[in-house]
Amino acid sequence: MTLAAAHAAPLPGAPFVSYRDGRLMVEDVALSELARAHGTPLFVYSRAAILHALAAYQRGLAGREALICYSIKANSSLAILKLLADAGCGFDIVSGGELERALAVGAAPSKIIFSGIGKTRPEMLRALQAGVGCFNVESMAELDALNEVAQSCGQTAPVSIRVNPDVDAKTHPYISTGLKGNKFGIAHQDALAAYRRAASLPGLRVTGIDCHIGSQLTTPAPYLEAMERVLDLVAAIEAAGIPIGHIDFGGGLGIDYDGDAPPAADALWARLLARLDARGYGDRALMIEPGRSLLGNAGVCVTQVLYFKPGEQKNFCIVDAAMNDLPRPALYQAFHRIEPVQAAAPDTPATVYDVVGPVCESGDWLGRERALAVAAGDYLAVLSAGAYCMAMASNYNSRPRAAEVLVCGRDAQLIRRRETVQDLWRDERLPG
Ligand SMILES: *Cc1c(COP(=O)(O)O)cnc(C)c1O
Repeated sequence: MTLAAAHAAPLPGAPFVSYRDGRLMVEDVALSELARAHGTPLFVYSRAAILHALAAYQRGLAGREALICYSIKANSSLAILKLLADAGCGFDIVSGGELERALAVGAAPSKIIFSGIGKTRPEMLRALQAGVGCFNVESMAELDALNEVAQSCGQTAPVSIRVNPDVDAKTHPYISTGLKGNKFGIAHQDALAAYRRAASLPGLRVTGIDCHIGSQLTTPAPYLEAMERVLDLVAAIEAAGIPIGHIDFGGGLGIDYDGDAPPAADALWARLLARLDARGYGDRALMIEPGRSLLGNAGVCVTQVLYFKPGEQKNFCIVDAAMNDLPRPALYQAFHRIEPVQAAAPDTPATVYDVVGPVCESGDWLGRERALAVAAGDYLAVLSAGAYCMAMASNYNSRPRAAEVLVCGRDAQLIRRRETVQDLWRDERLPG
């Protein structure tokens, strides 16, 4: 078998990424060519992979009145937002900045929902004036503030209350949001009182209910449990005379980082819709807020090997991408597969390395104990880097942020130029 044939299939966790003649490709573009043309670190996204992930949700919700609101915080680049808006998505935003991004790509304001526990009054006002579809409110205090802002400009704000179903998503504690002890949503037992209050305020108009129980969920059970709990609340709220127009089940579906096997979006929704129908809520308008599951497996980060540093206990492979570019390992001890951009000849011996970046922090690593056959100057691809990587990138250590490329078949377009060092201090002033 030739090397090319051995590697013809897409890589695990990376649809539309495959080796061809030993060269790692995103769709029909070789990553080595992109790295040479644009430099590294470089994020590369597959348009087909994004649309493929979206299509699974669209199939799963076909025939229903449903709006897929992409959660912008997973990856907020304008070209990505434009692609998803053109494919019919609405947007889930958590800040005034994300609102402006959605509006900048021509998103229909009515398809934008505004989530988040700390919306400021100016953000509320701007969103109201833009005409967003719904405010997902997360506290009693926020209900009052939104009511005041709406009344001050003579509008009524459409609201949904984010309820906390107290379901254990069994994911990393930093990305679990549906348990009693965390800051999100209104506790299940307080939800009815919150709805009564919302219905009594003249500046508010109750339109729906929402929940979001966490991220990187890999089994259907927490979703099914949350759905039962939310439907119990819908029954209680409607019994109190407050109609619930739409139900928003949030985002959170996981992706394959390391052999994770989350349910496919269409299979998950087949199960959820069966429960919804069984409980008599099958005709409700639905919303979902997926982020990671649309983008995560559609992106890679290409980095170049700088140096090797053999140690007594570990060998380090030092690369030019770091925690400022790809913060998930440092933040969550997250695993990302790391593959050579040029496959090694079959019998090349591999060495076990910790793959680390240049930042002056021991937490700056991208992968631990990886067997790699690479030389200085080679390129590596960090997989599953489409979500919560570039969007979380910083300039720590005065490192300009990476460039981004969107691939469509043989075509590759630069969608964000590499930041320059001058960009970094553009807003700084020396005291006179
Ligand atoms: C982050 C977030 C999402 C998206 O979560 P994913 O795990 O990326 O799908 C959806 N809704 C809310 C309110 C969020 O905070």
